[in-house]
Amino acid sequence: MRIHVLRIVAFVLVCLAAVPCRAQDKVTILYDAFGESKKLTKDWGFSALVEHNGKRILFDTGNDAAKFEHNVKALGVDLTKLDFVVISHRHADHATGLRYVLSVNPNVTVYAPADGANGFGGAPIPNTYLRADESLPAKMRYFGGTEPEHLTSGKLYDTGNFVLVNQLTEVLPGIFLVRTVSQKKGTLELPELTLAIKGSNGLLLVNGCSHAGIEAILEAAGSKIVGRDRGHGVMAD
Ligand SMILES: [Zn+2]
Repeated sequence: MRIHVLRIVAFVLVCLAAVPCRAQDKVTILYDAFGESKKLTKDWGFSALVEHNGKRILFDTGNDAAKFEHNVKALGVDLTKLDFVVISHRHADHATGLRYVLSVNPNVTVYAPADGANGFGGAPIPNTYLRADESLPAKMRYFGGTEPEHLTSGKLYDTGNFVLVNQLTEVLPGIFLVRTVSQKKGTLELPELTLAIKGSNGLLLVNGCSHAGIEAILEAAGSKIVGRDRGHGVMAD
């Protein structure tokens, strides 16, 4: 197993070294605990601005809205000019800076994994949660025993055009969101989105925590988008 993982990592590193991004494409790290930039405040969490063929995609938003704002301003990044935002998953170290994004760009489209009550978009609450028991008196049953027609989770944000993603989605031509679900202890059933950009030589993947495991993400992205288990480059927190 360990050897298998090392092989995949080696493969990814070789691809990263051998095939640079196209000239007009750029990835700017906005939030990380690593890096040499003196302008950025380091913190736990991740955010990157991905520029591809003139499209500007904000991937994740870091752990602290004030630090995220500082880093964005320090690098002179204009968040009012975005094609869309991706929140990879609900963990706070990837989602908290969204408050700042929506304060400067309140109507931007935000893709997030469909994830039940994650606060991103008012997902429906299944009626099975109500566990109707006819033998109980009405006052001991949800809603007095009369189920509402529609029941939805609340939203943590008043603005933002949230789009919940529950399957592989081609957002723009050649730009995909790959959904994986963690099978690992500690994050079991946690859904996560990976940004996948299709190029002539393969895929560029930008990922958050990789909770499902990098092998599962490579398999999901490679087999479904390019029809084979093949990567190009992977950027992950
Ligand atoms: Zn996470």
